[in-house]
This record gives sequence, structure tokens and C-alpha cells, in this order.
Amino acid sequence: MSIAKQLYQLQEVELEIASNEQALKQIASQLGENQAVVKVQAKLTLEQQRLEELERQQHSAEWEIDDIMSKLSTTEEELYSGKIKNPKELTSLQHEVDGLRVKRDQLEDKALEIMDQVELATASVSAISSELKTVETEWHRQQQQLSTDVEQLKAILSDLEHKRQLLLAKIDPEAVEFYYQLKKQKTQVVAEVEQGICRGCRISLPTAELQRARSGNLVQCSSCRRILFLA
Ligand SMILES: [Zn+2]
Repeated sequence: MSIAKQLYQLQEVELEIASNEQALKQIASQLGENQAVVKVQAKLTLEQQRLEELERQQHSAEWEIDDIMSKLSTTEEELYSGKIKNPKELTSLQHEVDGLRVKRDQLEDKALEIMDQVELATASVSAISSELKTVETEWHRQQQQLSTDVEQLKAILSDLEHKRQLLLAKIDPEAVEFYYQLKKQKTQVVAEVEQGICRGCRISLPTAELQRARSGNLVQCSSCRRILFLA
């Protein structure tokens, strides 16, 4: 096998290694990444806080109603007890009862309104909770898939590295050194020749150059300096 072909194979393996390493890096950056879950968790916390606040309001409205009711019943008892004969006092008590009834009605309306809101917020909390469950399940599935992908890529990379070592052991060390010298400037330093054209720079090669390359010599493209490989 010509040295150019060996170097070409080395380059193929190294390009494959680089692309798999890139994929591994990309997947690794997604591992543990849980923005979507955090976002729904935050939404749930906010809604739960809103529900708690509404429930507090509901209880406080209920207590206010209890207070008014007991005040109302005491005042009504007094009014209808027959113990109070003074018309002025009776009128004033009647006013008080009327006022308390109005207030009771207002508070009951308010309590009903809050109850409606509590109902809505409860439904919303339950909807977000199930959304969170869905997002979390999807996240776990995704993470598992990513872990599997990472393992697979690591196995592929380890195979490729083994292949690379085998190739390196076979190739003339001077050629390898030359190859890595060129690699400092370019990622692809071995170019296939197709119909007399260097695939690295698309220049038509002089016949003499082609002939030297065909005879197995290490020949660089006179235009792009890549090592020419004739398949
Ligand atoms: Zn070229």
C-alpha cells in the first residue's frame, strides 16, 4: 500500500474521530440541562402561592361573616326581645340590624367571588402539576437517551483510536511526522486525485506530478501543498 493511501486512511480515521468528538461535546453539554423543567416548576410555585393567598382571603372573609352573623343575631335578639320599649332605641337597633345585614350580604358576595377564584386557581395548579409531570418524564427519557448516546460515542471513539494506533504503527514514521507538520496548517492534508484534478484545491495537475504520485512517491500538490492520493 502506498504511503499516500496509508496517510489518507489515517486522515479519514482522524476526521471521523474529530466529528465524533464534536458530537460527544454537544451531547455532553445537554446532559443535566433542565431549563424546561425549571421553568414549569417556577410557574407551579407561583400558582401555588397565588392559591394559598386566595385561600387565606377566603378564610378571612368567612371569619368576618361569622363575626357579623353573631353580632347580627345578638342585635336581632335584643331588638325582638320586647325588653326595649324606647322607640328611639328601637329605631337605632333596627338601623344597626339593617346595616349589619347589608354588610353580611356584601361579605357573602365577596366570599363567593373569592371561592370562584380559588376554584380556578386550584384547577390551574392541577393542570400545571400534570404539565410538570409530563415535562419531567420527557426530561428523564431524554437524559437516558443522551447517556446512551454518550456511551455509544465513547465506544466508537475508543474503536477509532485503536484503529488510528494500528495505522500509525504501520506507517513510516518520517511520513507520519511530515503529515503532522502539514496538519498544523490544515485539517485535511491528504487530497484525493480525481480525473487528474486535486480534490483539495480543484486544480488540474500537471502530468509529471500525476505520474510521480502514481508511482507511489509522496507528492504534494503544487498549488495547495496537500499530499496527493490516487485511489
Ligand atoms: Zn491541490
